[in-house]
Amino acid sequence: MRTSDIGINVDRGGDAPGFDARDFRNAMGQFATGVVVIATSIDGHTHGMTANAFMSGSLEPPLIIVSVACNARMHSKIAQGGRFGVSMLSEHQEWCSNHFAGKPAEGRQPEFESLSGAPVLAQAKVKIAAELRHVYACGDHTLFVGEVKSLEHRSRDEGPLLFHGGRYARLAGSDSMAMGGATQA
Ligand SMILES: Cc1cc2nc3c(=O)[nH]c(=O)nc-3n(C[C@H](O)[C@H](O)[C@H](O)COP(=O)(O)OP(=O)(O)OC[C@H]3O[C@@H](n4cnc5c(N)ncnc54)[C@H](O)[C@@H]3O)c2cc1C
Repeated sequence: MRTSDIGINVDRGGDAPGFDARDFRNAMGQFATGVVVIATSIDGHTHGMTANAFMSGSLEPPLIIVSVACNARMHSKIAQGGRFGVSMLSEHQEWCSNHFAGKPAEGRQPEFESLSGAPVLAQAKVKIAAELRHVYACGDHTLFVGEVKSLEHRSRDEGPLLFHGGRYARLAGSDSMAMGGATQA
């Protein structure tokens, strides 16, 4: 048995794990990520959701992976929509992240546009259109694997919005290092 730096028992040799859901979440939160908004359209209605469980999965073919909670409204929509968009947020789009995590910003409305039939945010740093290829159960989440059909990369040199330890952050050297909290489902 040993104790990790975050002060929890990480020995899973027995039947019962030596940590609870909060410990697990806190530990995983130490993995710094960017922030994306995933979106899909069904019958002309677009639904977006903030996610940081996003990664590139394969170069050939170009595949991406998003992990969506089974209890999120996005869960059934992404399966139904088939094609989905991923918008990587810039350091100036913290409000977008909050908006699509259920905390809409007063007086600000995100603007979607179509990229190869997938909804992406007009002001995103990187825009990706993907076709849903595989779906894998992953406990209380589901992994959706999409094949990238199109992508756009804004030439303007803006830093990414980062997420670490339940807080937003910016790359060191960005014009402002302002940070705010966020609650992840
Ligand atoms: C930094 C961060 C990372 C996260 N990462 C993940 C993750 O990887 N996986 C995961 O499952 N959850 C993640 N979450 C939690 C997730 O974003 C929230 O639980 C979210 O509310 C779930 O969305 P929903 O599909 O259930 O829809 P809702 O909560 O009903 O909708 C999300 C919000 O988006 C707004 N919205 C949706 N579509 C539109 C539209 N077309 N125009 C304008 N507004 C719209 C809605 O009004 C609502 O406020 C994360 C949250 C944060 C803050």
